Amino acid sequence: MTRRFNFCAGPAALPESVLLQAQQELLDYRDAGLSIMEMSHRSKEIVAIAEQAEADFRELMGISDDYAVLFLQGGASTQFAAVPLNLLGDNTTADYINTGQWSKKAIKEAQRYCEVNIVASSEDSNFTTIPPVDSWQLNKEAAYFHYTPNETIGGVEFASIPLGEVPLVADMSSTILSRPIDVSAYGVIYAGAQKNIGPAGLTMVIVRRDLLDRARPECPTMLAYKTAAENDSMYNTPPTYSIYLAGLVFQWLKKQGGLQAIETINRRKADKLYSYIDGSGFYANPVEPVSRSLMNVPFTLANADLDKSFLALSEQAGMLNLKGHRSVGGMRASIYNAVPEEAVDTLIDFMKDFAQRNG
Ligand SMILES: *Cc1c(COP(=O)(O)O)cnc(C)c1O
Repeated sequence: MTRRFNFCAGPAALPESVLLQAQQELLDYRDAGLSIMEMSHRSKEIVAIAEQAEADFRELMGISDDYAVLFLQGGASTQFAAVPLNLLGDNTTADYINTGQWSKKAIKEAQRYCEVNIVASSEDSNFTTIPPVDSWQLNKEAAYFHYTPNETIGGVEFASIPLGEVPLVADMSSTILSRPIDVSAYGVIYAGAQKNIGPAGLTMVIVRRDLLDRARPECPTMLAYKTAAENDSMYNTPPTYSIYLAGLVFQWLKKQGGLQAIETINRRKADKLYSYIDGSGFYANPVEPVSRSLMNVPFTLANADLDKSFLALSEQAGMLNLKGHRSVGGMRASIYNAVPEEAVDTLIDFMKDFAQRNG
């Protein structure tokens, strides 16, 4: 067995120790005589797993009791509809800022339910910038303001939290748990699990409790935050195994020293990769330096004809999933929490060698 370095944007790398523990507990979970996957979600084991996962997640992120933490399904993409359905109430407008492919999808879905005010857009720069705050056209009457703190495809990230007067909603799918954040600045935070939380199939939502009564009457029962909040996320069968694995990831993160400690490692990983790219004269990252993502690093080669060879050789050298998104081209290294620093060092060494041979 050889586990290789996985730079996939999602589903992404998981900590090896988590996978090993899951393997050990797979057939017979702590002498219960069956696998977690085979247990009732009402069993004492699953209830305990879910409670512990929530407690660890709250501790890691510093989430107060003013917020409900929900374990849902449907991915971040389902939240593109759930957000307007839950937050519009009688209001008919919402603010969105367009900073990349995921913002665009969120906007398109919201337009089915309300009038979307595009606060600003960086599409003109091919999403390589964050629009300057003084250009934003915020609407004080908007039901909420939605943004995508980290655009996974473009590798563009907001350097600070955009504070306004209406509840702030964030799609944190690819940035959650990468560093400490001030949850109290937000109305709703949502994230698909398959980047920094755990395996696919789980979606986490953090919602301020005073926003639970704003759902549109037609909001489906299963999409209403209130349904999940009032039923400990067990109104129907939750993704029990994904919750279990997410719980193991949270414990792993606590052992690493929590989000402050993981941020230090993440910054070191990202800094060395960006500074190598910038100084290489062979690779380039198109994003303005202040808006570069901590988690997703797209880069192009001096000559796009070399892309295929780069991918084939990097794979041979034990590095998987470096192909960039088709809308950006080139390569993308996603360096989430579970991608070890050694993987980044190995990648940089490979890139140096490749540039030397082809430069
Ligand atoms: C991956 C991703 C999504 C899509 O998530 P799904 O769980 O596949 O729906 C949405 N937004 C961002 C920022 C992402 O990184």
